[in-house]
Amino acid sequence: MHNNDITIVGAGSAGLTLALLLAPTGLKITVLEQGDAPTQQQVTHQRVSALNLASKRVLEHVGAWPAIAATATAYHQMQVWDADSFGRIEFNAGQERLSQLGWICDNEQIRVALYQQLQQHANVELLFNCTINSIAQSERDVVININQQQLLLSRLVVGADGVNSLVRREMQLPLAHWDYEHQAIVATIGTQLPHQATARQVFLPTGPLALLPLPDPQQCSIVWSCNPERAAELLAMDEMAFNQALTAASNSVLGVLARQTVPQAFALKMRYASNWVRGRAVLVADAAHSIHPLAGQGMNLGLMDVAALAELISEAVADNQDFSETRLLRRYERWRKAEAQTLIAAMETFKRGFSNKQPLLKLVRAVGMSGVDQMPWLKSKIIAAALGNSGDLPKLAQPMLKTQHSA
Ligand SMILES: Cc1cc2nc3c(=O)[nH]c(=O)nc-3n(C[C@H](O)[C@H](O)[C@H](O)COP(=O)(O)OP(=O)(O)OC[C@H]3O[C@@H](n4cnc5c(N)ncnc54)[C@H](O)[C@@H]3O)c2cc1C
Repeated sequence: MHNNDITIVGAGSAGLTLALLLAPTGLKITVLEQGDAPTQQQVTHQRVSALNLASKRVLEHVGAWPAIAATATAYHQMQVWDADSFGRIEFNAGQERLSQLGWICDNEQIRVALYQQLQQHANVELLFNCTINSIAQSERDVVININQQQLLLSRLVVGADGVNSLVRREMQLPLAHWDYEHQAIVATIGTQLPHQATARQVFLPTGPLALLPLPDPQQCSIVWSCNPERAAELLAMDEMAFNQALTAASNSVLGVLARQTVPQAFALKMRYASNWVRGRAVLVADAAHSIHPLAGQGMNLGLMDVAALAELISEAVADNQDFSETRLLRRYERWRKAEAQTLIAAMETFKRGFSNKQPLLKLVRAVGMSGVDQMPWLKSKIIAAALGNSGDLPKLAQPMLKTQHSA
């Protein structure tokens, strides 16, 4: 006798999207979240994510996209340059016959939009401010002990509980990790010059600084990755000194910059669970892998995980098969691990390539960037990857699929 079919631990972007994707199966789903329910507040854009076309398709399918898009910025250009050399590369949506290259979306607004959609599904229950005491498995069930020793019996548990996943620990799924030796400082800033819907990233010797356009033409969100010593210096600065350092780091590309929110720092680590499955437990998104934000791909990768898992589970339910069997979960694991490994390797190459100070390598880097800028076919390939239009995509994320919510 089960209390439900699937328990999803974590109501972040991955957990909520998975619940919505699975809702049409009719399975009884419970989402357990340690924090509060997302609430519609003033959008500060303190935490944003650059979402690609593949993610948009998934969020469109579950009906959350219009509310996300209402506070998002579509960007049409991307400029990347090396502060230490003449290396520079530009991407333009028009040249690729695209309307935009991606969207800068507010993280909390994504959760709010997903949560609103979930209200329409009676078979999905959300428990907020929930404490998980333990998770155990027998051959047929998962037993989750929550709150005041209340037991929840499920057929499958999904760990969508982020980088410090409790599901991963409780299921003893081994984790490989290394420190990027970077902290990412995020803040909302005002810019003297309009950003012109362009996402910018400069590679400094201490790490990359991204200026991501927000709906106000003179406002950006920054993700400034640097070594811990530099991050501590920046965070200790008063407002004026911080603004001067930021303006200088950006090569004054948008004139004088001024912070509008208090900067927040996040330690950056690569994490990769070497197993994502144990019995009837499975990991998705940041619980399974986390990468450097320099290419803005972490949330996109997580949304593809949940779209892939939901696809396999939905097919099994439609065929009257056991949706929680290890064989199915292993299929998901093989599928998505390949994508995660590719991105982990790419982030490492980028990070190492741009932090190397040897003159010869700097020259190779500059020539390489400027060379790529002159090769339209290669730029198109890079853009296809950044848009999420390459790789082994879940059906919902593939181009040309008309979804129930698309225009
Ligand atoms: C500085 C920075 C910039 C980034 N920029 C981008 C970008 O531009 N584009 C992009 O695609 N990605 C970006 N990312 C990555 C992106 O933010 C993450 O990949 C994404 O938010 C992960 O979503 P998630 O749902 O897996 O985890 P989370 O958002 O961490 O959600 C996990 C949820 O689980 C809950 N939880 C945790 N433990 C428990 C527990 N024991 N019991 C119950 N609930 C629990 C948490 O409270 C949380 O609500 C960035 C990351 C950083 C750090």
